Amino acid sequence: MARYTGPVCRLCRREGTKLFLKGPRCFSDKCAIEKRNFAPGQHGRDRKAKIVGYGLQLREKQKAKRMYFALEGQFRAYYEKANAATGVTGELLLQQLERRLDSIVYSMGFANSRRQARQAVRHGHVEVNGRKVNIPSYQVGVSDEIRVREGSRSLPVFEAARENGGAGAPPQWISIDRNGLSGKILSLPKREDIHLPINEQLIVELYSK
Ligand code: SF4
Repeated sequence: MARYTGPVCRLCRREGTKLFLKGPRCFSDKCAIEKRNFAPGQHGRDRKAKIVGYGLQLREKQKAKRMYFALEGQFRAYYEKANAATGVTGELLLQQLERRLDSIVYSMGFANSRRQARQAVRHGHVEVNGRKVNIPSYQVGVSDEIRVREGSRSLPVFEAARENGGAGAPPQWISIDRNGLSGKILSLPKREDIHLPINEQLIVELYSK
């Protein structure tokens, strides 16, 4: 399965904003955006032209893709599916990103970054409705029960999750049992449930050209 394996702080610096890809480090003064908030590479400090139109739409798409660790083909497929469905395309696009199993594990507070959550899923530590699922992009639905597998609960990452919980307030659309390292999807997330600085309308405009 293809995935980005390069330095992740570089992605934040390219977008000029925090994408929160490294857990606690993102909230510390070690964050590369705090220390070097300019684009990576030799010309990163050069004066930049103001980004407008297509450039703005492209950057917004790249930002969303990078936050969720989705590759271009998969991200485009999310858009096509959202566009074909009834409803607000941008909201449906974000909803699919939030419904990824790795994203859910992160939202439940069982990993301190989406990247760590992705690894937890890939390594087979998570089950959905009692069955192991090791596909990070697996789409979770209403009433699905997500649980850290019995044999994995004593791993330090999950012990820490039990004690500390997630980075932000727990989402309203998931019922979470922190001690049991499990949760149940109560409803699909609405736009107001997704607290990420993404302007999905710009992404829709980009793809609908
Ligand atoms: Fe981005 Fe986190 Fe790195 Fe800061 S520490 S640049 S927010 S990945």
